[in-house]
Amino acid sequence: MPLNRRHFVTGAVATLLAGATAGPAGAAALRRTVAPARGGLYTPNAAPLQPTAFLKLPPGAVTARGWLAGQLQLQLDGLCGHYPETSHFLDFDTNGWVHPEQDGWEEVPYWLRGYLDLAAVTGDATALDTAHRWVDAVLATQQADGFFGPAGLRTRFRGGPHFWPYLPMMQALRSWEEYTGDARIVPFLTRFLQYMNAQGQDAFEADWLYVRWGDGLDSVFWLFNRTGDAFLLDLADKIHRYGADWVGNLPSLHNVNVAQGFREPAQYSLRSGDPALVQASYQDYRTIMGTYGQFAGGGFAGDENARPGFGDPRQGFETCGIVEFMASHQLLTRLTGDPVWADRCEDLAFNSLPAALDPSGRAVHYITSANSIDLDDVVKTEGQFQNGFAMQAYLPAVDQYRCCPHNYGMGWPYFTEELWLATPDNGLAAAMYAASSVTAKVADGASVTITEDTAYPFSEQITLTVRTPRDLAFPLYLRIPAWCATPQVTVAGAPVTVPAGPAFAKVDRTWRNGDVVKVTLPQRTSVRTWSANHDSLSVDHGPLTYSLDIGERYESLGGSAQFPEYAVHATTPWNYGLAVDPGTAASAMTFAASGGPLPANPFTPDAVPVKITAPARRIAEWTADDQNVVTTLQASPALSVADVEPVTLIPMGAARLRITSFPTASPDGHPWSPGGEGAVFRIVNRNSGKVLGVDRMSTADSARVVQFADNGTADHLWHLVANGDGWYRIRNANSAKVLGVDQMSTSDSAQVVQFADNGTADHLWQLIDNGDGWWRLKNRNSGKVLGVAQMSTADSAQVVQFADTGTADHLWQLVADGRVRIENRNSAKVLGVDQMSTADSARVVQFADSGTADHLWGFEPTADGWLLIRNVNSGKVLGVDQMSTADSAQVVQFSDNGTADHQWRLLDDGSGWFRIVNRNSGKVLGVDRMSTADSAQVVQFADSGTADHLWRLR
Ligand SMILES: [Zn+2]
Repeated sequence: MPLNRRHFVTGAVATLLAGATAGPAGAAALRRTVAPARGGLYTPNAAPLQPTAFLKLPPGAVTARGWLAGQLQLQLDGLCGHYPETSHFLDFDTNGWVHPEQDGWEEVPYWLRGYLDLAAVTGDATALDTAHRWVDAVLATQQADGFFGPAGLRTRFRGGPHFWPYLPMMQALRSWEEYTGDARIVPFLTRFLQYMNAQGQDAFEADWLYVRWGDGLDSVFWLFNRTGDAFLLDLADKIHRYGADWVGNLPSLHNVNVAQGFREPAQYSLRSGDPALVQASYQDYRTIMGTYGQFAGGGFAGDENARPGFGDPRQGFETCGIVEFMASHQLLTRLTGDPVWADRCEDLAFNSLPAALDPSGRAVHYITSANSIDLDDVVKTEGQFQNGFAMQAYLPAVDQYRCCPHNYGMGWPYFTEELWLATPDNGLAAAMYAASSVTAKVADGASVTITEDTAYPFSEQITLTVRTPRDLAFPLYLRIPAWCATPQVTVAGAPVTVPAGPAFAKVDRTWRNGDVVKVTLPQRTSVRTWSANHDSLSVDHGPLTYSLDIGERYESLGGSAQFPEYAVHATTPWNYGLAVDPGTAASAMTFAASGGPLPANPFTPDAVPVKITAPARRIAEWTADDQNVVTTLQASPALSVADVEPVTLIPMGAARLRITSFPTASPDGHPWSPGGEGAVFRIVNRNSGKVLGVDRMSTADSARVVQFADNGTADHLWHLVANGDGWYRIRNANSAKVLGVDQMSTSDSAQVVQFADNGTADHLWQLIDNGDGWWRLKNRNSGKVLGVAQMSTADSAQVVQFADTGTADHLWQLVADGRVRIENRNSAKVLGVDQMSTADSARVVQFADSGTADHLWGFEPTADGWLLIRNVNSGKVLGVDQMSTADSAQVVQFSDNGTADHQWRLLDDGSGWFRIVNRNSGKVLGVDRMSTADSAQVVQFADSGTADHLWRLR
């Protein structure tokens, strides 16, 4: 990689990181953390482990009220509470955690971890009985050497044990011990961890386990604090030594691995005492969010892995990633005493987690995206997401999603438990806010209850009522969120001075029974600008991020009343840009709260009690792709001459369809490239017949661009991204990198490579028409054209630039991939067949894009550079009635019989729009008398430069 580009890229990343850490009001420097300290009534870390700032209360100490109790009830009645009735992985009679001779993996541990804590925080008798039955059965499988669970896991990795599923299982068993005091758990875990400690290094290196060892450390420390067994410290050392290196390093870009793994250095600092390890976890968070978390909602782009070039807000964050990231932030709040971790957990809990679940709590989806305008159960095949299975519909999805529906259950129960924390100085901390009550030991061990009345996050008022058996002196810590600059607190009617957020404010006092603390966290509408995503804006009000309110139509895909399956489709337009200036955007918006009691589930568009009205303009060119995925953002402000209209924004967590990262729109903005990235093309070489691709499907910078036989891989597909001046970037669909010339060389035979789009002139290409369906691709920097080294016809031959000498390897054909819509520039209607006819000579017309199959066309190359354009509905091809060569002759569909009027070629306009030229007549496709009406006849006409002669493919 050339040095000058390396500097450029490094500089860009550093800017992103600075943007990610600045936070509201640049408050990081003023952050008021609670220092770790020895002491406390809830099993604090025992020496030599370092102390933490807060201590976890046992499950059941905190009871949810209000909307949070509603979410827990939905979960009990919904998927988590009933999942064994439909998941074959959770069949009590056939799974290896109960019957070791059977198979078993992470599903039972995942589900039991969430379900057991759900039972504990709700006290639901049936769920507690069921959890008890599972715990008894799991405990009964322990062998003499301490191993338990599926016998097959003893030899699963390199002939030895695979411990990954044991990490969540140990967490479930710990919760059971904390809730019930079951005396079997501590000796059980001791025997098991002795078995683990006896293993060699291989046993610490198994795939998922290797990068997720933080959870193991947490269980090792938990047990050490109860037994003081020295072998546990040795085990902790092995875990850190043999596990993946997360010290200021991301050894995996898998979204769940990062969400779980990044905290491991901070956790191990409790053993090593090295504060630099705590900072390493902060750095890991900044790195992943600085590059892939450049939109609102608290998550990052990782569908399945985070991938260079895929940071647009349409990318998804896995449901497992949401709940694991929340759990990590909770753990780091306790470990560091830094309020920003609790802010980050609330961000995910209020904005992303509700949206990952259907409103009835009976289904989940795999990925949640900040911009997402359709949730169907159809595989996306054009490289939009990494996974090759459909990920967006709400389903029970036992096998299709597998991990997420088993794992999501810990989200709300853990959040409930961590609202309140114990402190080393025998007090309590309100770490996060929601209606709840906590009963816990304070001071000399007396039990107090604090009731929290609030509609937060939908309101800014929180009232805490303290119930004590007698006057008791203990500290109460209140978290002030980073977004809150002017908190107000009164204690027993007297105002107390507290710092602006992010902070923990400490109220030290002798509490009397009935004392009331009133906390006001004023919420203001504000916007964040995401420079890494084309200066898009997101809108916040207090802890809630707001999204465009899009009409939602739930389509039943099957399932049952208990386990429904839904797609969700949009019924209202979504392609809005905000008609605001980023500097004054908030003042152009109006917040409204409906008041009155909160509904049981406020996270639906109908029930949500708050909204924001904002001025916006439609951006006509911003569309979904042909697989109903929102196209990626482009530069703001975007050009729109549409009228300004008020749009409604609702909390992101209530919007199953949403735009959360908005472009801005103005009449003098940047033109939006038609159809977003629009169609993808294969680029076929005339000499070899091979297509342009990337060597070994690499996604790296400077990977070689080669020719290869067209075998359908995604690296053979390219987007044309218009630069607005007649030049294009040619962006690979697999890597999102663009076509460039190695080292920006201007020499003949210089290698053509892919590279991150960093704006250099060698990334720009012009399509030079050869007049016969073939093109030369000319580089802006060198003036040379794209060719194949030595005119090779072999697979993997290097693609190069060369002076334009007229050889056949300098000629390329662009063939649109898949089923595309052909949209008219003048009318914005698409090409279709009158009445969806399948007959020969049926009229080809334009029509509003209504989604019918006759609006879809496929492009098929002929051997000599022309194209057949075939209708998906009829199978007939585009032709001219009677093979006429006259102006205004009707364009029709006809059986493919080889006549020249059935062949067409594209003529580039330099702007992403094309003329479509008939081989027989030389005339271009247009609309009769430039009509903009539905069903207007499509005709051929001499190319006269009118707008109805321009078409785009999308
Ligand atoms: Zn998952």
